[in-house]
Amino acid sequence: MPPRTQRGSGAVRLDTPVKFLKGIGERRAELLDRLRIHTAQDLLWHLPHRYIDASAVTPLVKAEIGQEVACIGRVVAKGVVPTRRGLRIFHAVLRDDSGVLECVWPGQAFLDRSIVVGQTLLVSGPVRFYHGRQMAPREFVILADPDSEPEPLAGGKVLPVYPATEGLSHKIIRGLVDRHLDTLIGLSEDVLPEPVRRSLELPSLQDALRAVHRPASALEAELGRRRLAFDELLDLQLMLIRARAVAKRSRSGVAFTVRRDLTSKLRQALPWQLTDDQQRALREITADMTAPERMHRLLMGDVGTGKTVVALFAMLLAVENDFQAALMAPTELLAEQHAATLERLLAPLSLRPELLLGRQSTGEKQAVRARLAGGQARLAVGTHALMQESVSFQRLGLVVIDEQQRFGVEQRAALIGKGAAPDVLLLTATPIPRSLALTFYGDLDVSTLRHRPPGRGSVRTAVRTGGQRDRVLEFVRSEAASGRQAYVVLPVIEESERADVRAATTMAQSLAARWPELQVGLVHGRLRADERDEVMRRFRAGDLQVLVATTVIEVGIDVPNATIMVIEHPERFGLAQLHQLRGRIGRGEEESFCILMSEGPAGDRLRAFAATQDGFKIAELDLEERGMGDLIGARQSGGFDVRLARLPDDADLLGRARQLAMDLIAADPALQRSENQRLRERALARYPRAVELFRVG
Ligand code: ADP
Ligand code: MG
Repeated sequence: MPPRTQRGSGAVRLDTPVKFLKGIGERRAELLDRLRIHTAQDLLWHLPHRYIDASAVTPLVKAEIGQEVACIGRVVAKGVVPTRRGLRIFHAVLRDDSGVLECVWPGQAFLDRSIVVGQTLLVSGPVRFYHGRQMAPREFVILADPDSEPEPLAGGKVLPVYPATEGLSHKIIRGLVDRHLDTLIGLSEDVLPEPVRRSLELPSLQDALRAVHRPASALEAELGRRRLAFDELLDLQLMLIRARAVAKRSRSGVAFTVRRDLTSKLRQALPWQLTDDQQRALREITADMTAPERMHRLLMGDVGTGKTVVALFAMLLAVENDFQAALMAPTELLAEQHAATLERLLAPLSLRPELLLGRQSTGEKQAVRARLAGGQARLAVGTHALMQESVSFQRLGLVVIDEQQRFGVEQRAALIGKGAAPDVLLLTATPIPRSLALTFYGDLDVSTLRHRPPGRGSVRTAVRTGGQRDRVLEFVRSEAASGRQAYVVLPVIEESERADVRAATTMAQSLAARWPELQVGLVHGRLRADERDEVMRRFRAGDLQVLVATTVIEVGIDVPNATIMVIEHPERFGLAQLHQLRGRIGRGEEESFCILMSEGPAGDRLRAFAATQDGFKIAELDLEERGMGDLIGARQSGGFDVRLARLPDDADLLGRARQLAMDLIAADPALQRSENQRLRERALARYPRAVELFRVG
């Protein structure tokens, strides 16, 4: 949430519940709740997600074929029409003072539920010829409901469009914000010191808020956004830079020495050579571990680039120094998988990792804990159960955290902020562009694995359309019949979620009926974790040949025999997400196939995706396509509060925010001085769990 500031008295304060504001009341407050607007302050910070520049709106009759336009009109007719190819198209006819225009949304029959006759819509998109002029809107906004008058959009006005919800149109929300705007702005305090603000040429907080809610021009709105984006980036950088400073200061780290007893043995036992990338990463890690400071390093590498082996070398370096090492994974299944891998790789060294999982029996767990506490066990693998208080290590020297993005930024900060703690190596299979690495990993040193080891099976990616589904399925069947395994990925669990989208449950049923000779499994996010793990285990064991799934299979699962992945509705996934999914295949020696079942023509994005396997390149494409907010969506990022900043466009702001944060923290490490107090409070309001970092002492 945005910065809190608890000032103001009288009728309205920033923390006043919205239901007490004029024009709201209980019923609307319930609706606002859905938009996470609970207090007056939340209403003030409910920012427009786009603007309509009314000077750029085209009258319906003037929407010409071949142009890309924005129009406003009232819905006078609508309906769903099936095509011969089985695609369902939603139609709506709009009317304004100048005339009418037909709009079509192929494959979006579900819109029939939200668009009704009498509403006023803003639509924007290309106009083409199809029995007359027709627009296929890329976007639309419901400007007014049937029973309300749309506001006049005359005189080149710039209209903010707010995220809305059923029963609370954008227009109502706009009215509410507008009504309270001046009061709420008056209660807000700008914590950025005036001289700093001026030197950065940013507007004051008050001006910025006014500009985003009530812009006189698109440019003004953009300047306002940049000011608010700067604040976001500054808060994040303050936290990250402080975390780094705390980490560097606590020299409680171990200075390991390179002994080579175990690491050399492992090197000899491996059936292959480490890649250049792996060797470089290992040198960087070794340098950190032999230095007296604690290590806080992120090992970033696409799936299959061989992070696990690198981590294992680091663990052995700790072990040959008479310390223990622990590897933590986000799920039990992944922990088991790692334990199996380590067991295999360590067999020639007569070392065995201990596995600690929540689902083990109490007796088993006790035995493992005893061996860890007593020091008989040198290597441990587990879920975050490993970090619980009941677990103690005799002498823990290194913690490796796999898929670290599944743990939040503040969790990371908290871990780093802990007193006498071991070296930390984080692994992530979500590569991010350089411009972002600094934003999100500003508190860490980063090593990168860019290239995959040679000799791994490659993945061929193809785009196919609905008409070719039978052939694709026949390919899947014949591969499965000859001993391979396949994933079939869908965007939703149940058909009811989106009427026009294929769903996992239905697909699993239909494939099971179609292929009685094959075993078809189903996993999705609504299964309990243990049920999900069970299905995944059966797939890994080869009892299931086909696994129908939602994106829950994204992370970590390693089934080398799975060589086929069919992804339905690929246009509904971000490119980075598609790439994560695709990373589940191509893990064995065999060639693998990823088939994207596209509804329409493939489009540049899917073609670009099919053409490369470089995760960093895809991350750049994804960033361009969706902007940072989505790329590092809250789900993935675990708590970065960055919504207004847009990278790479705002790279200059990021650089300035980072510099300012460094200067502030260099001069006043815990931001205790009175002139920095407010800045600290605001950063902590955004990242409450970072509070430990800013304790004095
Ligand atoms: P990641 O965790 O980065 O996705 P893994 O560590 O699981 O990747 O490695 C992927 C596969 O490549 C594993 O089967 C591993 O044994 C193998 N591998 C790792 N390093 C090399 C290498 N240098 N040469 C050949 N194969 C390797
Ligand atoms: Mg891995």
